Amino acid sequence: MDHADRGRAGHDAVNKSVGKPMNECVDNVVDNVRGVGRRMNVGSRPHRDSGLNVGGGLSMDRGLNVDGGLNMDRGPNVDGGLNMDPGLNVDGGLNTDRRQNAGRVLILDGGMGRELLRRGAPFRQPEWEWSALALTEAPDAVRDAHLDFIRAGAEVITANSYAVVPFHIGDRFELEAQTLAATAGRLAREAATQSGRDVKVAGSLPPLFGSYRPDLFEAARAPMLAAPLVAGLAPYVDIWLAETISSLAEARTWREVLPNDGKPFWLSFTLDDAVPHEVPVLRSGETVAEAARLALDLGAAALLFNCSAPEIMEAAVRVARDICGDRLRLGVYANALVTEDNNSDDANGELSGVREDTQPEAYLRWAQTWVAAGADMVGGCCGIGPEHIRELAQHLG
Ligand SMILES: [Zn+2]
Repeated sequence: MDHADRGRAGHDAVNKSVGKPMNECVDNVVDNVRGVGRRMNVGSRPHRDSGLNVGGGLSMDRGLNVDGGLNMDRGPNVDGGLNMDPGLNVDGGLNTDRRQNAGRVLILDGGMGRELLRRGAPFRQPEWEWSALALTEAPDAVRDAHLDFIRAGAEVITANSYAVVPFHIGDRFELEAQTLAATAGRLAREAATQSGRDVKVAGSLPPLFGSYRPDLFEAARAPMLAAPLVAGLAPYVDIWLAETISSLAEARTWREVLPNDGKPFWLSFTLDDAVPHEVPVLRSGETVAEAARLALDLGAAALLFNCSAPEIMEAAVRVARDICGDRLRLGVYANALVTEDNNSDDANGELSGVREDTQPEAYLRWAQTWVAAGADMVGGCCGIGPEHIRELAQHLG
């Protein structure tokens, strides 16, 4: 989903001779040039983290409910959790009863970065403004990218709000965060409406201090950074999607800052794919089993895994399904990045390559393993485009 093509510094960091814009999660996916337009290399792992953390200490409280506690009350919940309609139930809590949902896999979207590049969205330095730049200067490209994913078969699209964090947009965050988030939400909503299809819009709630960087997370500052994102997206989204989450603490924070609006909370963790693990773990080192238990505790309607290599997702789904049973939906949207690039420090200044074994047909085969393991939602993250989503929709949707 969008999100995520969000850069080793965000999701989809896309490169051009003019620089390396990045958006979605951690993607540094680029079409061709490697090592051109090197990104600001400030942090210890700048490949996924520009280290630019400029918006600190901002007072962003806009009257939003930032103390919603655990918001377990899904009272007036229009479509969350209890929807037993196995049919076109893509709304909300989405059908949490898998028995009523047999054989039905919900199709998510893919990464936005490369799609925006294809549409000639403006790219210029500073690179970390890229996503904001697309929102304000190429809104049609953002909307069209959403539409292409919908036409490919996506039933849930994710607003392009992943990069609306100080980490990416610097000083603009203080004054423009809510407006930018609202623009992201509105464009996704417009695409859904324009498509004429029953498409739901998820609001991307990104890592607030950098993708893949649980070590940078500041629980005390997180609520005020989260507030304008939530306020801007709220009028437009059906689902809250906390994505590319690296630690249990990040997940708890997002749940706590969300309003009691009855909208389903989807929780998507990125997994450590740098080295083999006996059991799947988050990038914080905490286990997927712990993450699954937390998702249940927080009342999440869905637990997902995103922006990690496709081969490690199946084990995570199995662990999660064992723990969660039929109590929530499980999803995967992997990235198409070369894993070494994704994790090695010496790749930090370069763009990530896209794996040849994640072309649409190959990606479908990965997705089939996730479904066999218990996933009932699939999509794509950095480097996964409409052509991949079409393949998923045709064979799994
Ligand atoms: Zn990603």
